[in-house]
Amino acid sequence: MEDLRKILERNGFSFKKQFGQNFLTDSNLLSAIVRDAGTEDAAVLEIGAGAGALTRALSAAAKRVLSFEIDRSLAPVLSETLSGCENTEVVFADFMKSDLSEIEKELGDYVVVANLPYYITTPVVMRFVEESERCRSLTVMVQEEVARRFCAREDTPDYGAVTAAIARRGKSTLLRKVPRTLFTPRPNVDSAVVKIDFTEGGFPVGSVKAFRAAVSCAFLSRRKTLENNLMRAFSLSRECAGEILRAVGVGERVRGETLSPRTLGRLADELLARGLTD
Ligand code: SAM
Repeated sequence: MEDLRKILERNGFSFKKQFGQNFLTDSNLLSAIVRDAGTEDAAVLEIGAGAGALTRALSAAAKRVLSFEIDRSLAPVLSETLSGCENTEVVFADFMKSDLSEIEKELGDYVVVANLPYYITTPVVMRFVEESERCRSLTVMVQEEVARRFCAREDTPDYGAVTAAIARRGKSTLLRKVPRTLFTPRPNVDSAVVKIDFTEGGFPVGSVKAFRAAVSCAFLSRRKTLENNLMRAFSLSRECAGEILRAVGVGERVRGETLSPRTLGRLADELLARGLTD
């Protein structure tokens, strides 16, 4: 196929920074992402078709591809780059305003593959973590710093509420680092491909709302002990907060950020059992 930059130029396309438009052109990297995602015979949901380079690679490997793109001015470019991709549909709409349950009805089981626009990386991932029922995995290009946060271990500077929320649903792995030089235009930071596999890892909790409450309490103030955060978040006496820590099996001087996601799950169940959250 003709060079992507030439197709963009011929169609008079100008990059829009506000949409996080940093396109991929490296064919080896595109093939690697498709392999990472394991799309054979899967339905694929892509967020941000861009000029269609990844969409086209996915189309060749997957059963079908549904791709969202917010920028209508890419329509003429995409009709060239995706010509002949019969199993692929591009919807020109803001993915964040779409109805995920409708998409899931349409696709059945599916995998997400995307070079995500950096300004909505975490909201997009959290949408699948919190709302999806049929998503099996997400293979996403994100800024390297965000990738480290998604995959962090407890008690490290990168570990936070987002790490724990993702871990409840599945296993996150940083698969490959991608230098900024492989994007057009070139961003100011390097990126990485992360796979979040909802079919591995993960753990059940009594209530997702209680888990969210436990996580936000654990990270309420990173320098304070969990006991102090519990007292503040749930207006508890020190004695009552101490009882909760003992029931969960953690020491009274522990800080929330040292607890694994599974221990935060136990804390959530304890808060639920005591009627402190629903
Ligand atoms: N997939 C292409 C690639 O890898 O070259 C483009 C990736 S680029 C990082 C992100 C794309 O997402 C852009 O084309 C941008 O216009 C689109 N986008 C940004 N916000 C969006 C949204 N809310 N919904 C759908 N697409 C969006």
